[in-house]
Amino acid sequence: MTVQRLATVLACLLVCVPVYGAQEYTLVLIGGRVIDPETGLDAIRNVGLVDDKITTITTESLTGRDVLSVDSLVVAPGFIDLHSHTPTPLGQRYQVQDGVTTALELEAGAFPVEDFGYYLRDGSILNYGASAGYGNMRNQVMHGIRQPHLADPRETLGWLGRWTEFRGLFGQVTTANTKVADAEERAELRKLLHEGLDRGGIGIGLPLDYYSEGIDNDEVRAIFEIAGERQAPVFVHVRRGINGDPAGLREVLALAKDTDAPLHVCHITHNAMVNIELFLREIREAQAVGVDVTTELLPYTAGSTTIGAAVFGRDWRTIFNIDYSDVEWAATGERFDQTMWDEYREKYPDGQVIHHYLKEDWNRRAVVEPGLIVVSDLLPMFTEDSKVAPHNGAFARVLGRYVREQGLLDLNTAIAKITLLPARRLERLAPAFVHKGRMQEGADADVTIFDPATIIDRATYQNPYQPSDGIHYVIVNGTVVVRDRQFVEGVHPGRRINAS
Ligand SMILES: [Zn+2]
Repeated sequence: MTVQRLATVLACLLVCVPVYGAQEYTLVLIGGRVIDPETGLDAIRNVGLVDDKITTITTESLTGRDVLSVDSLVVAPGFIDLHSHTPTPLGQRYQVQDGVTTALELEAGAFPVEDFGYYLRDGSILNYGASAGYGNMRNQVMHGIRQPHLADPRETLGWLGRWTEFRGLFGQVTTANTKVADAEERAELRKLLHEGLDRGGIGIGLPLDYYSEGIDNDEVRAIFEIAGERQAPVFVHVRRGINGDPAGLREVLALAKDTDAPLHVCHITHNAMVNIELFLREIREAQAVGVDVTTELLPYTAGSTTIGAAVFGRDWRTIFNIDYSDVEWAATGERFDQTMWDEYREKYPDGQVIHHYLKEDWNRRAVVEPGLIVVSDLLPMFTEDSKVAPHNGAFARVLGRYVREQGLLDLNTAIAKITLLPARRLERLAPAFVHKGRMQEGADADVTIFDPATIIDRATYQNPYQPSDGIHYVIVNGTVVVRDRQFVEGVHPGRRINAS
């Protein structure tokens, strides 16, 4: 080494080291109100991101390649939706504009689980994943139908194919819903359940109410036994009784207690109805004796499904405590009478209806329940001229209506219900969630930045294709997908999340 070279190296040690040592942030968020529901942080901070990680949260000034000034805005962990039925580009577009950075299909699930990303083959805007869908397994075992069944019917049949696919979501009009399984079929179903979990299914999706006639007590117990053995949560749409009859809830609570299966009760007000207080109490009592049970709220006052759905073959007016005039034909907004109902159910079993059967007070009661998670239950979105009526905007709705307008709960509690609590529900089975739902150094760079003074949902059942307002920036794995309240075209930073 020459003297000159040595001098250069020494000079470099003095001058270059601080430069090499300085953190080069790919993205910096300046001056936002950073809220982390786990540590209780709620303060003005600067946030530095390096690629797909949050690396610095500080009061010091930061510089980086891309700098967003976010003062007067809330910087929260990206919202995690445990209950979304729309893994489609259009659905994802609306979900990120509602602040969602991870959307999961856990109630219905998918099988084969790995087929779930079918519509996202050109890239995913947000993080996504699915449970092992028991209904899909049943369709396969009883009918040899592999669902979600791929390309052909949907792509070649256009809208008809899409309806076929939507129907397949819960399989409501096949005998897979009503046929009681024989011994051989039960053995095969158990095998497929293990297979679904082995292949990364995030728990088990059990839309039990749709299969009420077909699935008997032994079959449900077998599902819970496997869930207990594998410590995989079962996401259940419980069997629906008359006007909030708690028998369906009690069935799954007892099974969870017996088998040690983690249990998540879907859209509680939609099943509890007038008995919301009773349902919440029984869940708390189960938790108190060690049952690993959680629940969720879909913050709307109607349900939406096909007119051919199993429940409408039963005494649905008593079950929901409504009449024909409380049900809307989604395509036109018309309300039914008996003649129209009988005709449409016969002719268009796959047509979408919106049945208005909930009271806003039940949602208001549920949303303040400690530990309760908020979800969207967003229906599939394929095209904006679709006749499906998704309720889009659940997260902005909770932050705008229940937090700001009605003051039912504080902002930090509401944020926990859409970030930390869903992450915790899943992190034992899917460790990827240890790094989500938090604004902490080392966490994944999934971030939602919104204005608490203006955030609100704008979509309605009649006009569902309206993005939420007040969401300024959404960041998925370090990439900005909503910037200055505009959806960013052509970026696909989302990743698939599996159970480990
Ligand atoms: Zn459901």
